[in-house]
Amino acid sequence: MLNLLQQVKAPLQQLNAPLFDQKIVNVFIKREDLIHPNISGNKWRKLKYNLIEAKSKGYKTLLSFGGAYSNHIHALAHAGNLLGFKTIGCIRGEENKPLNPTLSSAIDCNMELHYIDRVNYREKTSERMIKELHQLFGDFYLVPEGGTNEFAIKGCKEIIDDFDFIPDYTFTGVGTGGTMSGLISGLNDRGQIIGVSSLKGGAFLKDDIKNLTGNQYNNWDILTNYHFGGYAKTKPELFEFIKTFYKQHHILLDPVYSSKMVFAFYELLTQNYFKPSSSIVLVHTGGLQGWKGMIEQNRIPHDFRDEVLSKYF
Ligand SMILES: *Cc1c(COP(=O)(O)O)cnc(C)c1O
Repeated sequence: MLNLLQQVKAPLQQLNAPLFDQKIVNVFIKREDLIHPNISGNKWRKLKYNLIEAKSKGYKTLLSFGGAYSNHIHALAHAGNLLGFKTIGCIRGEENKPLNPTLSSAIDCNMELHYIDRVNYREKTSERMIKELHQLFGDFYLVPEGGTNEFAIKGCKEIIDDFDFIPDYTFTGVGTGGTMSGLISGLNDRGQIIGVSSLKGGAFLKDDIKNLTGNQYNNWDILTNYHFGGYAKTKPELFEFIKTFYKQHHILLDPVYSSKMVFAFYELLTQNYFKPSSSIVLVHTGGLQGWKGMIEQNRIPHDFRDEVLSKYF
């Protein structure tokens, strides 16, 4: 199993563009999206030490929580299947048939789905709920929603191991803040880390990240104004941006996290936020399976589908 978990190829690639020359900055993208087609990016990093822990403690079953389009649930189903765990996905809300692409892919990996209504879902970490789940499913290793815990942070710290220099700025998308906390810990006071929240009202994330990093670093900040209307919301402007970036760099960003993060980076660049000769790493955290749900929901402009997504989906 360790072998499987160690096969990581997520190169750091330099991006070239006239704008970067004009602003005299060196921009790189960390291709966590290339780690695995289904266990993508930061979800793989976050699961790695959880899976090792579960295996070493003799657990046969993994259980976790997420929304119906969750990258985390998708990754857990695939990783569990590959490594011989039974998996249970506790999904927020009611069952909808036919299943969306995320959940049907999970089912194909033999994940068992268990739906929890929105009111009870809020109580998912309560003792009562965990007890109920144990009554239903017996023994299991619990991975928190979004996968964030100390093992996840340990895994995300390893993203830094692939850097062959320490950038002045490291950018990442933020959901729970686990990935960003790993980057902050791994960089250990070197450079600035800028997180871009995909959630509306993401100010609470600052406290979460302080807690997750042991409240010992100040070289980071979270931008909360680039959510484009809220979690998993998009705007025509965001599609335009993803398309332009794709045409320039031939790299597809995901619609929920990386696109908003890279958009924020461009806006700061335009505002001359970075000192000349700064080096900047954008961490592409993966999440490309999220496009399938958006296609299924007809949320994608036709020209964008043809010009950008047709090669992938
Ligand atoms: C889950 C996810 C994130 C957010 O990660 P957190 O550790 O929860 O902040 C960022 N990018 C992608 C592609 C994700 O799937």
